[in-house]
Amino acid sequence: MQSCTNETRSRHSNKYAFSGKLICGNCGSKFRRKRWGQTEKYKKYVWICVNHANNGNEACDMKAVDEEKLKAAFVRSINKAIQDKDTFIKTMIENINNVLESRREDAELQEINTRLEELKEQMLNLVRLNLRSGLDSLIYDEEYQSLEQEMQELKQRKAAFDNTELIRDKALKKAEEMQRILSGRNELLKRFDEGLFTEMVEHIRIVSLVEVEFIYKTGLVIKEIL
Ligand SMILES: [Zn+2]
Repeated sequence: MQSCTNETRSRHSNKYAFSGKLICGNCGSKFRRKRWGQTEKYKKYVWICVNHANNGNEACDMKAVDEEKLKAAFVRSINKAIQDKDTFIKTMIENINNVLESRREDAELQEINTRLEELKEQMLNLVRLNLRSGLDSLIYDEEYQSLEQEMQELKQRKAAFDNTELIRDKALKKAEEMQRILSGRNELLKRFDEGLFTEMVEHIRIVSLVEVEFIYKTGLVIKEIL
């Protein structure tokens, strides 16, 4: 059952512009496309929270959102960006830099580095002492391992910070790319452009039936009303 579901999902993951891109603001699940209306005349496509669809209202009471309304919301969102490119790009880069700065100056990171230096020193001293006076091997091993363990824990915490920098660097590159895309566009978008959507938007967070948030690839969040 599980493998069947996964297979279905992966087979369809890139089928539509919104596949895999919609996230439920209620429960964090992805959305699935569904046809509504029996006849051609009343046919429309909606996106529903997979958790709601599978497990009902008790699991998640998010309502279905209209595909055409989502497309129109993207057109409005991107047209704001085209109309006011400079502010859009400026806000995007400021947004990235703010996170970067707050991370760089983070007291926690400094604390980790200081403690790592201390531990290295202690380890060296332990090794020197052992060479000089031959410690009891049991005590030596225990002491060494305890230092080693704390070091590993700190290194893991530090890696999370390095990873943040990496993500921000990628976001800055992406912002440059978006700037290039936007500066090549002077006309406002009239219809939904799947290529542009894929290029610019990481996710759409469905807050409610009428409220969504476009999360651009640099991390910038722009609210739209459906
Ligand atoms: Zn949900």
